Amino acid sequence: MSDLNTLATPKIIAIANQKGGVGKTTTAINLSAALAEEGYNVLLVDLDPQGNASTGLGIERGSRVVTAYDLLLEEATLEEAVQPTEVDGVFIIPATTDLSSADIELISNEKRSFLLHDALRQPAIEKYALDYILIDCPPSLNLLTVNAMVAAHSVLVPLQSEFYALEGVSQLMLTIREVRQTANANLRIEGIILTMYDGRNNLAQQVEADARTNLGDLVFDTVIPRNVRISEAPSYALPVIEYDTTSRGSKAYRALAQELMKRQPEIAKAG
Ligand code: ADP
Ligand code: MG
Repeated sequence: MSDLNTLATPKIIAIANQKGGVGKTTTAINLSAALAEEGYNVLLVDLDPQGNASTGLGIERGSRVVTAYDLLLEEATLEEAVQPTEVDGVFIIPATTDLSSADIELISNEKRSFLLHDALRQPAIEKYALDYILIDCPPSLNLLTVNAMVAAHSVLVPLQSEFYALEGVSQLMLTIREVRQTANANLRIEGIILTMYDGRNNLAQQVEADARTNLGDLVFDTVIPRNVRISEAPSYALPVIEYDTTSRGSKAYRALAQELMKRQPEIAKAG
């Protein structure tokens, strides 16, 4: 790939943590929406068979005709798989439960870890003038998550502010190291984002202190509070920043987008 092509490539971020319920999907949806609010074009790749990111952005099951599964199995092109969403500037590749069998179906495919990488580099990607691609990973370090890490420039790790939260991080770091050694030498850690934070809770404060001591600058200054508006938004098929634009959750996800953009000065703001 020439330097020129590399510059034109959107920034690809895998949102991963093998624990379920830590805020991966919520972060994928709301960070996408917050970046789009800044004028960026964002593609959210739903790589979780549960399809919660698709649901949360209003893509009903009946509208998921071409999905991430078809793209990975090379049964559809990127252009066929990408759909617009109700949120201006946010596109999605939706997921269905089919995706749960991809691991087994791809086992004898030599390119199995590179399928998403290759799919996202199809020339048709240019048509969407994307600035960011966010990949919502399943709660596992399986072949789907490996595909996300091989395709990505960096990994963003949501960490729920509760006991044992840090224990899973070392396993995740091992997987990142393995992907670096075998397939994607330049894979970076974008950062750790503390989620569902309740500042009145001593344990949450302790988890934050431990994370900042052990992981240093990797931990974003921004913390996502536990906020009921964030958990209500998906049932209205909206990001929280559209569902309740002034809520604490909305403000936090906007702040996360700002912090992420500051870490990425090479991406100029879109018109
Ligand atoms: P994951 O994708 O890691 O499994 P989710 O993003 O689906 O996690 O979040 C798990 C649950 O917690 C969801 O019901 C979601 O609405 C809720 N949730 C996520 N973040 C917050 C938050 N900051 N405040 C309140 N509820 C949240
Ligand atoms: Mg999820």
